[in-house]
Amino acid sequence: MIVAGGWLGLVAALAAPIAPAKIVVLTFDDASTSHHTVARPILKRYGFGATFFITEGFTFPTNKHDYMTWRQIADLHRDGFEIGNHTRDHLGITEKTVPRLATQLEVIAARCRENGIPAPVSFAWPGNKFHVTALTVLQQAGIRFARRGGEPEVPYSVGGGPPYEPGADHPLLIPTTGDARPNWTLEDLKRAVVQARDGHIAVLQFHGVPDGEHPWVNTPRERFEEYMAWLHQEGFTVIALRDVARYIDDKNLPADPMAVINRRLKANPPPVSPSTR
Ligand SMILES: [Zn+2]
Repeated sequence: MIVAGGWLGLVAALAAPIAPAKIVVLTFDDASTSHHTVARPILKRYGFGATFFITEGFTFPTNKHDYMTWRQIADLHRDGFEIGNHTRDHLGITEKTVPRLATQLEVIAARCRENGIPAPVSFAWPGNKFHVTALTVLQQAGIRFARRGGEPEVPYSVGGGPPYEPGADHPLLIPTTGDARPNWTLEDLKRAVVQARDGHIAVLQFHGVPDGEHPWVNTPRERFEEYMAWLHQEGFTVIALRDVARYIDDKNLPADPMAVINRRLKANPPPVSPSTR
């Protein structure tokens, strides 16, 4: 028998709807030219959403063979894709660099506004390095969603992490479920996205498709085409990071952002071998 208080508790817990199965968040890092030339037409063909995280780091200012122009980035926005912030200099976030983060975010937000793109509400931690003292800086900059890597739950060398659990994972520490690597095959992609069930969402991280300057995270064009065709054929719903808003109760964020991470580490300690990053 369920008493009235029980029902009220249930209603509170269901303030945000539970994510249906087969939801995939698609993200691209580092503003590779191939995001415009290769990914864009494929995603438009299938009606997929995606987030493109922009940095002016690496050789972005001068190397327009490997990195998009702001005009190309604006095209992606006009097509309905999300433009996210990845800091001006691809700044790795540690306790020491947190004081520089606000300016780093503001430069990219200003460039977006200059190019007719709204200031980003999504962020990807550069190099997947995160530090909890940066969360308030992100919030103050208007960032509502942030994607990290699969660490610390899963070593970097594995190329992925846990599925995203809305409600349990803090929205500024959303894990990468599948992190595409040069040696990936369709089987690796399947291993990641099969976890998009039981209210969990699979988050994919790509770099260039292909990637000129970062061969260790390159995805060949043919593989990328194969992955997207398979997701389409299997009926996955492919969305941008900002679209997870509907599964989050903003008034009920986890009090301890590290709690779910520590819970997973305790339940499933990773091997002691060091990260190969
Ligand atoms: Zn990056």
